[in-house]
Amino acid sequence: METGLNSTTTVLQVLPPPRLNVAQRLRQATRLSQVRTELVEAYQVALRRWMGDPVLMALGLPFVSEGYRSPERQDELYTHGRSAPGPIVTYKRGGESKHNTLPSQALDVAFLLADDEVSWSPALLSKFARLMKAADARVHWGGDWPGFKDRPHFEV
Ligand SMILES: [Zn+2]
Repeated sequence: METGLNSTTTVLQVLPPPRLNVAQRLRQATRLSQVRTELVEAYQVALRRWMGDPVLMALGLPFVSEGYRSPERQDELYTHGRSAPGPIVTYKRGGESKHNTLPSQALDVAFLLADDEVSWSPALLSKFARLMKAADARVHWGGDWPGFKDRPHFEV
């Protein structure tokens, strides 16, 4: 038992918490500048809480993978799993998604892991969703939708 705890501690000490590099931080700022204020504020409150918890930070660092999405890009995504290969990623056509307004009424979250991989882990997203909903009750999480679960997705 003690051996297991020690090896976990060692891993946490060897791998520093993930951090966004300069280019990633710039992209974050641009994405957030195109999102509705109340959603950005909820995200920032949730992010601060996450970053203040070493256990959560050891799991990964949340970042915004998408804010505003043009109707053309939405139409292109709609083809995924239909006329284009791959799984279905959206049920909305161009102009129908809350990502398609400026400012965007939606943002998508992913996680940067300690090894610099990007994760959309349902477990991590559901932990972050709890913080988002606690930050602002007007925030809706795509993971709560009946049927198709869009776990990276948050909207107002
Ligand atoms: Zn989304």
